[in-house]
Amino acid sequence: MKQLKDRILRDGRCVGEGILKVDNFINHQMDPLLMEAMAEELARRFEAERPTKVLTIEASGIAPAIMVGCKMQLPVVFAKKARPSTMQGMLTTKVFSFTKSREYEICVAGAYLRQGERVLFIDDFLANGNAALGCLELVRQAGADMVGMGFLIEKGFQQGGRLLREQGLKVESLAIVESLSEGKIELR
Ligand code: 5GP
Repeated sequence: MKQLKDRILRDGRCVGEGILKVDNFINHQMDPLLMEAMAEELARRFEAERPTKVLTIEASGIAPAIMVGCKMQLPVVFAKKARPSTMQGMLTTKVFSFTKSREYEICVAGAYLRQGERVLFIDDFLANGNAALGCLELVRQAGADMVGMGFLIEKGFQQGGRLLREQGLKVESLAIVESLSEGKIELR
């Protein structure tokens, strides 16, 4: 998606160990018009999969997911990273965080992820795929179907895209980063 690629090249910053900082328009300050355009594009790409629900993971997936839910007129549920004491009938799994280098538990109430639902997963970044695979596990525990996975930015030099596509999943990314070496951002 040209609009996103141009913005990454203009405002994105490369920080140590292969991390792309997009705090200026996605992860801290947000550009709602760009977010809306990106959601429109994701909605277009996944329309044929006829999802019945959007799933994401807190916190940075929520903004793009709710925009996609709005465009596709679908409910949006986010996996929580802390186990709320009040939540009953939970589906849980463990995820390793790429940016924080530690493992954490994610959970969704079974009431919001049910057998037979057609789930579209949306997140800001696809890196090693741990967050996405954790959510895929929750969808499978629920007996629901993962019909697509959409990302704003995929880091093509990490393994997440390959791991998900090898499972036969439909994966779409609006921009793919080829490399982040020596402070220079190269897009595919
Ligand atoms: P994964 O689980 O695919 O390894 O990492 C995905 C999660 O880590 C995303 O939800 C995102 O929040 C975060 N993440 C991974 N790589 C980057 C990056 O280069 N920049 C930013 N801002 N977040 C990232």
